[in-house]
Amino acid sequence: MSFEEFGLNASILAGIRSLGYTTPTPVQSKAIPTILLGHDVMGLAQTGTGKTAAYVLPMLNRLSNSSRGKGGTACKKARALIVAPTRELADQIDAAIRVMGKRTRFESMTIYGGASFNIQENKLHKGVDIIVACPGRLLDHINQGKADLSSVEMLVLDEADRMLDMGFIPDIRKILRHIPGKRQTLLFSATMPDDIRTLTKQIMNRPVIVQVDHSMPAKTISHALYPVAEHLKTPFLIRLLRNIESKSVLVFTRTKHRAKRVTDKLQRDGFKATPLQGNMTQARRQKSLNGFRNGKYRILVATDLAARGMDISSISHVINYDMPDTADAYTHRVGRTGRAARTGEAFSLVTQADKFIVQSFERTMEIELVIRELEGFDYNMLAPRKQASVLSHNTASRKQAAVTYGRNKSSHYRARRRAS
Ligand code: AMP
Repeated sequence: MSFEEFGLNASILAGIRSLGYTTPTPVQSKAIPTILLGHDVMGLAQTGTGKTAAYVLPMLNRLSNSSRGKGGTACKKARALIVAPTRELADQIDAAIRVMGKRTRFESMTIYGGASFNIQENKLHKGVDIIVACPGRLLDHINQGKADLSSVEMLVLDEADRMLDMGFIPDIRKILRHIPGKRQTLLFSATMPDDIRTLTKQIMNRPVIVQVDHSMPAKTISHALYPVAEHLKTPFLIRLLRNIESKSVLVFTRTKHRAKRVTDKLQRDGFKATPLQGNMTQARRQKSLNGFRNGKYRILVATDLAARGMDISSISHVINYDMPDTADAYTHRVGRTGRAARTGEAFSLVTQADKFIVQSFERTMEIELVIRELEGFDYNMLAPRKQASVLSHNTASRKQAAVTYGRNKSSHYRARRRAS
C-alpha cells in the first residue's frame, strides 16, 4: 500500500514526502482509511508504530476539505483538539503537525503547564486550527474562559492508558463537556484497561477498533529490573559486569554521547569494551562489531539505531543502561540475546523517571519483571562533586528506588495479560 492510495490531498502528500515516509506503517494502513470515512477509531497501538501520522494525516485532510479559511471569522476557533499526557509528547505531536501540514495553512499550538500562560492565552485569542494539549493546563484555560472549544469537530486522546495512570481521566471528562457532541473522536492507547474501555463507550460513537500487534520477547529470556539512582548508573554497571560470567554482553544507552562516555569509563576500569553509535564512521562501527563478534571485546555499548539488525548469536546478557521508550524497542533490544533457543538475561537499570514506562511494559508484554538489588553495591554512594548539590536529595538508597515502584526488594510481579 502507498500513501497515494489513501486519496489524501496533494498538499498533505507533499508533507509526507518531506518527512521521507514512503510506505505506511501497519497502524497507518488500517487507521487512515477508516478515519477518512469519518468513523470514530480506537487504536490499540503504542509509540513507535507511527500512530501520530495515523491520525494527523486524516485530520489535516478533513480540515482542508472543509476549510473555513483564515480570516473567515474574526477570531478563528480551534477545530481539532489532541490531548496527550506529557509535554514531550505534546511537543512531538505539534512538531509532526507542522511538518506534515507545512503545505497547508493550518496553525497549531501546544498548551501545557510549566510554559507561559499568557503566551498561550494570546495565541488562543488570535486563533489556531489545532490545539495539542495536556489536560490540566487546558482545563485552566477553559475555566478562565480563554479556550473556546465549541468548534472542535475532531478530538484525539493520545496515550489514553498513560493519561489514566497519571490520573487525568476526571480532567478529560470535564474538558469533554466543552466540546460539541457531534464530532469525530479518536482514541489511541497501548493497552485497554477497564477504565479506558468504559470511557470509550461513553464518549465514542460505535468506534472501529484498529489493533496493531507488537512483538513479544522470546520465552527463553529472563528479565530483571535494578532500581538505581541516575547518578549511580555507571558504578552500578561496573559492579554488575563484574558479577556476570559471560563472554559477550551488550549494553544499550539512550544517546550516542552516553554510549561513548560509558565505553570510555569501562575501558578505564579495565573492561574490554567498545562502542557502537551513530557518530562513528562505518569503518569504525564494523571494526567494533567484528571485535565483539570474534571475542576481542567482551562488552559492546550501543545505541538502538546503531544496533539495528545486528545478529550475534553468542550474546548472553543485554543490559539496558537506559530504559527504551517503547515495548517494541525493549523487545528488539533483548532479542539480541536468547537467540536460537539459547537462554539469555535482560537487565534494566531503572530510575524514578522510568516508572510509567515500566508500568506500560508490564501491561503490554507477557513477561515477568523481577526487581533485584545488587549485593555489595553501595547505594548510598555520593554523587560526583559537581552534581552533589543538585542530586543530594537523590542519593537515596536502593530502598528508596524500590519504594518508588511500590514494592519491596523481594517482590516480583507478573505482567497482566494484555487486553485484546
Ligand atoms: P510514532 O509512533 O508516531 O511516535 O512514530 C514513530 C516514529 O516512526 C517517528 O519517528 C516517525 O517519524 C516514524 N514514522 C511514522 N510513520 C512512518 C512511515 N510511514 N515511514 C517511516 N517512518 C515513519
